[in-house]
Amino acid sequence: MKKNFIVELAKQLISIPSISPADLGCQEIISNRLRSIGFTVEHININNTSNIWAFRGKGKNLTFAGHTDVVSAGKKNLWKFPPFSPTIENNTLFGRGAVDMKGALAAMIIAAENFIYLNPNHKNRLSFLITSDEESLAIDGTKAVIKKLISRKENIDYCILGEPSSNIKVGDSIKNGRRGSITGYLKILGVQGHVAYPKFSDNPIHKSISFLKELISHEFDKGNDFFPSTNMQIVKVESNSNSENLVPNELLIIFNIRFSPVITVQEIKKYFQKILLKYKIKYFIDWKLSGLPFFSTPGILTKVVTKAIQYTNKITPILSTAGGTSDGRFISLTGAEIIELGLLNKTIHKVNECVEIEDLCILSKIYEYIMNKLVA
Ligand SMILES: [Zn+2]
Repeated sequence: MKKNFIVELAKQLISIPSISPADLGCQEIISNRLRSIGFTVEHININNTSNIWAFRGKGKNLTFAGHTDVVSAGKKNLWKFPPFSPTIENNTLFGRGAVDMKGALAAMIIAAENFIYLNPNHKNRLSFLITSDEESLAIDGTKAVIKKLISRKENIDYCILGEPSSNIKVGDSIKNGRRGSITGYLKILGVQGHVAYPKFSDNPIHKSISFLKELISHEFDKGNDFFPSTNMQIVKVESNSNSENLVPNELLIIFNIRFSPVITVQEIKKYFQKILLKYKIKYFIDWKLSGLPFFSTPGILTKVVTKAIQYTNKITPILSTAGGTSDGRFISLTGAEIIELGLLNKTIHKVNECVEIEDLCILSKIYEYIMNKLVA
C-alpha cells in the first residue's frame, strides 16, 4: 500500500478550506487523478454546488460516493494546529475533514489507482459520485445528481458511501440505513392577562403540561430488527411573556423526531392532531422534514464488505442504522444496495478532527478489496 500517496492526497484536500457548499478546487484534483487512469469525468455544477460523476468500464456498477465539503472549523484558536494546515503528530493527521471525509476520499482514489493498475481491463463498471453539498442544504448535491442519473437510466448496483461509520476500529460498524428526521414548530395559543387575575386569561404553559407529559411518554413504534424505536426530543419551550406579571398568550415548543421506516410522516402528523384535539388545545403547527428514512436490504455488497473488513482488519462489522441523516437517502432511490463504510466518527465536526495514518491505509485496502471482488 502506497501510504505516502494517501497521506499526500489527504493533506492536499484538507489544505483547501472548502466549507460547505464551496469546493474551491478539491474536485479538480480528484477529477485529474481519475482522468489520468481512464475515467470519464463529468462535472455537474448546480448553483454554488460542485459535483462529479466519473465512471470507467461497463457492466454492473459499483459507485463510491462522498463529499468534498466540510463544516466550519469553529473557534480556530481551540485547535492544536491550524485546521486547514494539515499536520502530522504521532502518526496522526490533524485537520478539518480528516475523517469527514477527505481522508476517506483519498483512500478511495488511491484504492482505485492501485486497482486500475492491476486490472486495466476490469469487467464491470467502477464509478464515483462526489458532491460539495452534503454538510449544508444537500439540495444541489447528491440529490440532484441522482435525479439526473435516474432520468438517464444510469444504473447503480452497489454503492459504498465513505461517511465515518466506524466507532473504535475501522470497519467495526457499517450502515445500511438511517432514520428520518422531522422537526415540529408548535405554537400553543392562550389569552394574555395579568397574573393576579387568572380568571381573565388562559395560560398556554399550564395548558401544555399534561399534554407534554403524555407526548414524551408516547411510544411511536417499536422499531424492527434494523431500526431502534422512533424517538422524540423536545428541544425548545419558550413563552412570549417578558414580564413576571404577564400571562403569555403563546408558547412555542420545538421538537425533533428521528423515525424509522416502520412509521410514516403522515402517521406522525396524525398522532399530533389527535393528541392536541384530546387536550382541547388551540395551536398552529409547522413541520420541516429534513430527511426520509432509508433502508438497504443486506445482499451481495454487505457480504463482500464484511469479508473485506474481516480479511483486512481482522474484525467482523456490525450492521447499524444509527446516527443522523446521510446522502444514502438519495442514493437509495436508484435501488442500489448501499453500505456506509468509512473512518472513525469520534472527532467528526469537532476541534482537532484527526485520523490515524494507519487507518487511512486500512480503509484504502478495504476499498480495494471490494473493487477486486465486484469490478475485476
Ligand atoms: Zn460527511
